[in-house]
Amino acid sequence: MLLLQDKVALVAGVANHRSIAWGISKALAGAGARLILTAQERVKATVEELAASLPDAIVLQMDVQRDDEIDAAFAEVERRYGGLDILVHSIGYAAAKLEGRYIDTTREGFLLALDISAYSFTALARRAEPLMERRGGGAMLTLTYLGSERVFPNYNVMGVAKAALEASVRYLAWDLGAKNIRVNAISSGPQRTLAARGIADFNLMWEQMKTSAPLRRNVEQDEVGQAALFLCSPMASAITGHILFVDAGYHVMGMSFGPKKASGAEGATD
Ligand code: NAD
Repeated sequence: MLLLQDKVALVAGVANHRSIAWGISKALAGAGARLILTAQERVKATVEELAASLPDAIVLQMDVQRDDEIDAAFAEVERRYGGLDILVHSIGYAAAKLEGRYIDTTREGFLLALDISAYSFTALARRAEPLMERRGGGAMLTLTYLGSERVFPNYNVMGVAKAALEASVRYLAWDLGAKNIRVNAISSGPQRTLAARGIADFNLMWEQMKTSAPLRRNVEQDEVGQAALFLCSPMASAITGHILFVDAGYHVMGMSFGPKKASGAEGATD
């Protein structure tokens, strides 16, 4: 008997084979889960190609800014499977390249980043709740980054969105706990994905892991996938409202040893 035998899992946020959500999809499918991958229209064809390599996976279109698409996707899940056991939210977006000063964030840019990167988890959780209740419980998971609690130059409005997302994890855990629905997040170390390309100096974050993380290395996509499998499985049955760091230990450090100074650090004395 596989760990997630007969479980139905909706994974939102695969864009290509580098996506963190793809690593999670492979781990969940490998443990026996039946997958529903949701994708924005612009990446749907790519996601369909990837899904073809998984047994019993389907792809549904869902832009999280569109309530009609969210409702249609969850209605289709209900029609096909009658319920849902696992929800993975691996979505983030900011209008402009993440660079410069946070103080220059426009109202429009702030609202967009917070809507797509933070509010959407709550929007999906609300639709998933009745489907999980029917199964006697479930597990929800989202993806976050240490930029929610520490300053990473350039990460800016996304750090603020991640702080809101992490607070949502705790409030959702309380709301849904009585129904045996668990809500957690993984705080991943840097990964070379499409979303990461939008962060100026991302390479610096990546390189610094090799000198500053206790494990002296970066994190593999599969390692986040395995941690997600754990959190979504019965092995984590008493864990909720938790932010699990899968970052080679980087978050425990009080000192960093970077290959070069972050931009904006000009004038600092050595
Ligand atoms: P990615 O680009 O592969 O995934 C981001 C996904 O968000 C894409 O599939 C994109 O289609 C989706 N998305 C954006 N706007 C959307 C919308 N309106 N509706 C539906 N989907 C939308 O990049 P990723 O790095 O795998 O990002 C996944 C999550 O992991 C994000 O929340 C990101 O912030 C988080 N994360 C990434 C890193 C990293 O270094 N890459 C580290 C920690 C956390």
